[in-house]
Amino acid sequence: MRKNIVAGNWKMNNDLSQTEALITDLKRESKTSNAEVMIAPTYTNLWQAYQTLKDNTIEVIAQNMHFAENGAYTGEVSAAMLKSIGIKTVILGHSERRAYYNETDESLAKKVNAALVNDMRVIFCFGEELKDRKAEKQDAVVESQIKNALFHLEAKAFNKIVLAYEPVWAIGTGETATPEQAQDMHAFIRKTLSEKYGSEVADSVSILYGGSVKPANAKEIFSKPDVDGGLIGGASLNAEDFFAIVSAF
Ligand code: PEP
Repeated sequence: MRKNIVAGNWKMNNDLSQTEALITDLKRESKTSNAEVMIAPTYTNLWQAYQTLKDNTIEVIAQNMHFAENGAYTGEVSAAMLKSIGIKTVILGHSERRAYYNETDESLAKKVNAALVNDMRVIFCFGEELKDRKAEKQDAVVESQIKNALFHLEAKAFNKIVLAYEPVWAIGTGETATPEQAQDMHAFIRKTLSEKYGSEVADSVSILYGGSVKPANAKEIFSKPDVDGGLIGGASLNAEDFFAIVSAF
């Protein structure tokens, strides 16, 4: 049975004291829910966040990592380094990484491999741009992103993969995909997975939606049968809003 997951991507926000303050708020707001809850602070605060939350159900995860184990990659962090401080899950392929740091499906395939070799779970992000949606090419774009980055994997690898459909036009814009648009795409993604790996694998993979999810729209989006949770940007920086979204399950 696939899991419901709500993950907060803090991006490049919150210094150490702000991270501590937000975690204090999150602990206060925390409610039991049917969803796994995760937060992704920035690198410099991962250790502190992990230590503070290690006896809590909120999992601390990373926003990115390099594909190499170590070496001459100035400014980068490896899966082994993340693991060494207790981090077990990493977000890969966020559209901001693709747009600003030239991440491609090919480089992301290497990152996915590195994460899996290190027994880490991956939240793999993808989604079409506005021009693709306007040209009704969203299915083709999403299909190629998934195939190019993930379809070299064996079926059993998918117990460590969570998918996050994030239409670029909905990220940080206040413009959300309608629940129907999200459901249509998630059903298409599951069908694509099923054609390659069979329905058992396809039905076991959690597919999150990301793009301007807020307390006001979370319930309707999460009520769709193929939407298993959300990747939350802006609204994850406020503990009350974040747990209002978690409570939508
Ligand atoms: C994101 O960055 O993954 C995201 C979904 O951002 P927002 O919720 O702010 O649109």
